Amino acid sequence: MSFGIFCIACGATDCDFEKHHYPVPRLAGGKSTISLCRTCHNLVSRIPLKDWPWEVYKAVIESDFRGPALLAFLKIVEKYYREPENHDNQ
Ligand SMILES: [Zn+2]
Repeated sequence: MSFGIFCIACGATDCDFEKHHYPVPRLAGGKSTISLCRTCHNLVSRIPLKDWPWEVYKAVIESDFRGPALLAFLKIVEKYYREPENHDNQ
């Protein structure tokens, strides 16, 4: 754990930061890291895509998240998302 300036995903500034290996995962030998708050790091590294809160998917589409970043998100969801057994998307 380390202290950074802000979480590049959510913008949090007043929290502990963790290093997320990007773009190559640590287990694959990655050395470069970015700073994420613990909540965002949990979503990216510890919670399977199918278990992400539905609000996260809605927030991406309803945000100003556009261009290559949105296309990359859509591609990742298309490749890795699997419908959970008890998915509630209401
Ligand atoms: Zn964050």
